[in-house]
Amino acid sequence: MKRIAVLTSGGDAPGMNAAIRAVTRTGLDRGWHISGIRHGYNGLVNDNQIPLEARVVGGIIQQGGTMLGSSRCPEFETEEGRLKALRTLRKNNIDALVVIGGNGSQAGAHALSEMGYPVIGVASTIDNDLYGSDITIGVDTALDVAIQAIDRIKVTASSHERAFIVEVMGRECGYLALMAGIAGGADAIIIPEAEIDPESAATILRAAYERGKTHALIVVAEGAQCNADKLAHYFQEHRQRLGFELRVTILGHVQRGGTPGSFDRLLASRLGAAATDHLARGQYGILLGLIEDKVTATSLREVATKKKQLDLHLLELARILAK
Ligand code: ADP
Repeated sequence: MKRIAVLTSGGDAPGMNAAIRAVTRTGLDRGWHISGIRHGYNGLVNDNQIPLEARVVGGIIQQGGTMLGSSRCPEFETEEGRLKALRTLRKNNIDALVVIGGNGSQAGAHALSEMGYPVIGVASTIDNDLYGSDITIGVDTALDVAIQAIDRIKVTASSHERAFIVEVMGRECGYLALMAGIAGGADAIIIPEAEIDPESAATILRAAYERGKTHALIVVAEGAQCNADKLAHYFQEHRQRLGFELRVTILGHVQRGGTPGSFDRLLASRLGAAATDHLARGQYGILLGLIEDKVTATSLREVATKKKQLDLHLLELARILAK
């Protein structure tokens, strides 16, 4: 191994920079040359890269986002696009690639790996929906941002005795909403894995008032059928009968931009370092993630074909804690 490249792809996540830094500095420590591919798979398809030196990755560990840029690249989903990417890698004599990203990005890494190219994935997405890692880079920080927002909303909700709904990100996965709901003390949590209808949500909120609460809060995942828009519409339509108003806050991209906390910086540093470790041992075609607190390699094939399960027992805990 002499030359490796690293890219960040898909949705950005706080801690991606710490992972780039770790790949770069541990690679340099082995005497390798490190290239940073710009804007995810786009930079591979269009041969857009920069050399990464120790100083180039200085001062980024505390920054959210990704200094390499990220993107969604539909062209890479075609065989022709991936062949172009392979030509870029071969033309630049790059021996292996590290892909920092989530589900889609690791599906791309698997596709490239199936074409015979050495690839290692590093688990990074705020959605925490990636098979092969109990927790991924960015989740912890995104959760903190969500909780801070919920705490503030509760203050104003109490003052006005209002019901609030907070929609958090997570795509098809309810992890962020479930955890933010428990940690933020929500009265109800609605996630794609366990939908409830608007009338049931209204019943839960009314019961919260009847128990003497001065506010009531629902946390909903963006991927739920019964999302914030639908709930708000329903509550507006039935306002007279229900007897209270529902205010909506959609956290959206605010959750991505947090300053990476210590957990994400450390996780990213460990996984980035493990990537060069495995490459040095000639091991690739794998995703590096954290399983039972240990850095663990899972084959990209498994990652691309298996679905991570959410622990739905926690919904019951959320219900009891909302008393
Ligand atoms: P994330 O990694 O955050 O889940 P996306 O799902 O948007 O992000 O995927 C990021 C990029 O990964 C896509 O724009 C595409 O370039 C690539 N990708 C996704 N799925 C595949 C696939 N099945 N085969 C090849 N490339 C893919």
